[in-house]
Amino acid sequence: MKADLHNHSYYSDGVLSPRELVKLASKAGCDLFSMTDHDTTNGITEAELEADKVGLNTVNGVEISAFWRNSAIHIVGLGIDIENDMLQTGLEFNQNLRNERAKKIALGLWRSGIKDPLEKAHKISGGHMLTRTHFAQMLIQEGYCKDIRSVFRRYLSGRKPGGVSVEWKDFEEVIKWIQSAGGKALIAHPFRYRMTYTKIKKMLNEFKDAGGDGLEVVNANSSEEEISLGNQWSEEYDLLASVGSDFHGWPNQRVQIGNLADLPNNSRAIWSYL
Ligand code: AMP
Ligand code: MN
Ligand code: MN
Ligand code: MN
Repeated sequence: MKADLHNHSYYSDGVLSPRELVKLASKAGCDLFSMTDHDTTNGITEAELEADKVGLNTVNGVEISAFWRNSAIHIVGLGIDIENDMLQTGLEFNQNLRNERAKKIALGLWRSGIKDPLEKAHKISGGHMLTRTHFAQMLIQEGYCKDIRSVFRRYLSGRKPGGVSVEWKDFEEVIKWIQSAGGKALIAHPFRYRMTYTKIKKMLNEFKDAGGDGLEVVNANSSEEEISLGNQWSEEYDLLASVGSDFHGWPNQRVQIGNLADLPNNSRAIWSYL
């Protein structure tokens, strides 16, 4: 089973259109694909049309920003009905937070001497939703930083010029948005939150208690140790296991669609439950 259930189009912070993404997934030989833009389902219809054309199996997806104990985390929703009111009201709430945040980021960058940050970031996003990735790419293009890691560290986090805190909804609520739309809620990329293993396990335990469904066990950059731990935790906390590259298509990221390690334990695979 070649699945890739975590990808971004230019409706959030990816580079490609939904149509181009689906074509790539099909070329890569994916058996199952999901486009999971940050806090929006606006690209899904376009992706579905192309998937029908090329005969690619897909599930509707989204990646929602949430809080667990005041840490920002990402919850992937798979198999969602994109017409669902509760889900769309939640996504609109997050889109508003993102708009407000983008203005504050731009103000902070402007104060540190960067000219027209909002206009420049909009140009990169093609007028679609603004994310921190767009500010990051803008700062790299303008020569302020040479790579994505340093730009986040030096400009877009904590007390740095474009560091803005956002109060996302707690994950209990985000799980409800996803499940009321008939979807499964999964913790995305558990190793990317700067948490100790003990803290990640605490989060997974509380996620399960809150009714969460699963976690991503395999990402494009997962080490063998991470895959093995993720698999162990999915068993320990009775959570389903997902697989997704988190492909964005930026030239400075080497991730490819559909190029992922196998799940160690297929009996917990999310696709049997969608
Ligand atoms: P946002 O959702 O607007 O807060 O932007 C977060 C997105 O920025 C993530 O989904 C990643 O795509 C990207 N991102 C965040 N931190 C980093 C980092 N250190 N290196 C590369 N990309 C990052
Ligand atoms: Mn992203
Ligand atoms: Mn994410
Ligand atoms: Mn993502």
